[in-house]
Amino acid sequence: MDISVKAPAKINLTLDVLHKRPDGYHDLEMVMTTVDLADRIDLTETSGGIRLESTSGFVPFDDRNLAYRAAALIKERFGIQKGVHILIHKHVPVAAGLAGGSSDAAATLRGLNTMWDLGLSPEELGDLGLALGSDVPFCVRGGTAIARGRGEKLTPLSPPPPCWVVLAKPPHGVSTAEVFQALDMRKIAERPNLEGMLKAIDQGDFPSVCSHLSNVLEGVTMPAYPKVRFLKERMVSFGADGVLMSGSGPTVFGLVKKESVVRRVVNGLRGFCRQVYAVRMLGGLEGSPLE
Ligand code: ATP
Repeated sequence: MDISVKAPAKINLTLDVLHKRPDGYHDLEMVMTTVDLADRIDLTETSGGIRLESTSGFVPFDDRNLAYRAAALIKERFGIQKGVHILIHKHVPVAAGLAGGSSDAAATLRGLNTMWDLGLSPEELGDLGLALGSDVPFCVRGGTAIARGRGEKLTPLSPPPPCWVVLAKPPHGVSTAEVFQALDMRKIAERPNLEGMLKAIDQGDFPSVCSHLSNVLEGVTMPAYPKVRFLKERMVSFGADGVLMSGSGPTVFGLVKKESVVRRVVNGLRGFCRQVYAVRMLGGLEGSPLE
């Protein structure tokens, strides 16, 4: 059976780093939501082995690819003899703070769960996927959630008020591991107001969602990559309602209510940044297979 699975990007509406753990990971507290910018993954059953192709040359084609590793994990864990050909139609920018690789891994887990009739629940797929990356459990479910721990302790939320999301990805990638290494916990000046964001989402209060956007990793990535601050300032000046860096960056997103303003922000940014996207928030997809 052939299966095609959607792998949407995520953005962080809030991102807080609570402390560094003895195992080297950080305990996080984030509000994450999926957006309608997605890779598509075609899975075709073969007689054995794993083969991967991608429409983008910027991702590895071997066992360094997270989708490849997801398939290897499923095969090994469930003793599957059959093989799979994975074709990734890559649309989500790489090393961008949008969890593109984690979402490809999550989509591969979901697709193979169906293809090989494994009957695993989203929780079981998420537990399995945590070995591949901290964002994989969230990406398995999609929608909107508070993510705690490394990112695997999920509390589903109702979707944020509908709006446009303008994404601007500077030309360089950022390594998440390097950003966390450079983070000095003593230098975190301002932390997100999680309660305020939760209340804003619960009440469908769009201006309040915008005013509660907050990410402590901006304090690490922005000084190192001045283009991030530049793009934030531009988005604000072109009229975006709320602007933030996603994850460890460098992608900057703007939340915009009015379509006329979306056009102004996108056209205004195009002179400064080649990768600009205007998509819809998908945060209401909780529980959907996203296929
Ligand atoms: P996060 O927000 O989860 O930190 P990110 O969006 O910053 O992730 P990714 O696009 O997931 O970053 O890429 C991070 C690294 O993972 C890249 O160096 C890339 O080579 C590698 N990688 C492995 N598999 C994939 C994949 N399927 N798609 C994109 N990158 C992948």
